[in-house]
Amino acid sequence: KTRNGHEPEFIQAVQEVAETVIPYIAKHKIYNGKNILLRMVEPERLISFRIAWVDDKGEIHVNRGYRIQMNSAIGPYKGGLRFHPSVNASILKFLAFEQVFKNSLTTLPMGGGKGGSDFDPKGKSDDEVMRFCHAFMLELNRHIGPNTDVPAGDIGVGAREIGFLFGMYKKIRNEFTGVLTGKGRSWGGSLIRPEATGYGTVYFAQSMLQTQGKDFKGKNIVISGSGNVAQYAAEKAIQLGAKVLTLSDSQGYIFDKDGIDEEKLAFVMDLKNSKRGRISEYTDTYKSATFHSGKTPWEVKCDIALPCATQNELGGDDAKKLIKNGCICVAEGANMPSTPEAIHEFHVAKILFAPGKASNAGGVATSGLEMSQNSLRISWSREEVDSRLKDIMSDIHDSCIAYGKEEDGYCNYVKGANIAGFVKVADAMLAQGVI
Ligand code: NDP
Repeated sequence: KTRNGHEPEFIQAVQEVAETVIPYIAKHKIYNGKNILLRMVEPERLISFRIAWVDDKGEIHVNRGYRIQMNSAIGPYKGGLRFHPSVNASILKFLAFEQVFKNSLTTLPMGGGKGGSDFDPKGKSDDEVMRFCHAFMLELNRHIGPNTDVPAGDIGVGAREIGFLFGMYKKIRNEFTGVLTGKGRSWGGSLIRPEATGYGTVYFAQSMLQTQGKDFKGKNIVISGSGNVAQYAAEKAIQLGAKVLTLSDSQGYIFDKDGIDEEKLAFVMDLKNSKRGRISEYTDTYKSATFHSGKTPWEVKCDIALPCATQNELGGDDAKKLIKNGCICVAEGANMPSTPEAIHEFHVAKILFAPGKASNAGGVATSGLEMSQNSLRISWSREEVDSRLKDIMSDIHDSCIAYGKEEDGYCNYVKGANIAGFVKVADAMLAQGVI
């Protein structure tokens, strides 16, 4: 805390892990006296740099860029890039720290990292976004590589941005390699990567429900966000016969009493991905829906909640509302969307709760599969990638049960994910000595 006290999100993420991992370390001799957690919370490298770029009017802007290379004990650094005005070292360090555990859980050889910038893509022209991405890569290219550090997308970084970033990397380095994931299909991207985080979150929730003999069919689902993760979580939930009632963005949420079906979801995808519009515009076309300005969807009665927008978007009071309204399962599509108070409420009520590092790991897992396909210079079919994704999500679920099941039979997935993720990285660090 003395060293990182000014970084609240990072402290929050570390505290959550420490609460479950420290008692485990205390019980397991091989980790005693090795200061392993202390070593894990210090990034191997934190790079911060200036990005100067010119807008359409010829004005010069300066943003701050980052790459946090957190841990490379089990593989090259791997984790997304976030472009959002809120981006700072604390937020990226929390994300990079979580990423280490998440990547470990996927069973694939990937270390953890995260990066991004306080650049806001909202309201910028395609040309401005391109110039920014090119300027960003002009510096980032020195620090990454297919065997060193492989960034991907996150909030504000989708297919368009990955294209611009990849183009500049290729030009500077004069090489076509799998240095970024989330690439377009015709230039090295993997099938199912766009869907993977949302689909994986639903697959994970399915495994949780199965432990109680339940499934998605006929269930009411509340989803926050309307970006990449939210869209594909909704798509998979609809395919499994559930009724999706809400989507949201930073201005509020829409509630569609008839449910968001495939046709309505296609409208949302076009609205958000091509037109870059606001979710409130949904109600102009679909009269069965209402828009709730400045609110989050947790006040809507549901069976399953999937927070897929951003960190700390679901607080203690929201959790109480969900539980009171009969919610039986919460699976995080976003990173750290539930506050510690909310997680406490879910655990006290003993409902199914999956932390993002387990339930949203399908995205990075499929990025790992994209890296494998790039190295082998082959491309797997949709079915092949989807089936590997399903297997990985099911393996992560098994790991959580193995380390998280408590005496009364309730599974604490937070504890399970933290310990399972920790063990693999810690063992690799011990084997590699004090470095
Ligand atoms: P997108 O940029 O595609 O979408 C983000 C969504 O969240 C938008 O609807 C956005 O609304 C909303 N949002 C962002 N910031 C806020 C905020 N401060 N308050 C309320 N709503 C907000 O990002 P993704 O869908 O890719 O990412 C969503 C979450 O999932 C993030 O936590 C990310 O780290 C996590 N994640 C993503 C993965 C991926 O593969 N993409 C992998 C694993 C985790 P608005 O348009 O108004 O900003």
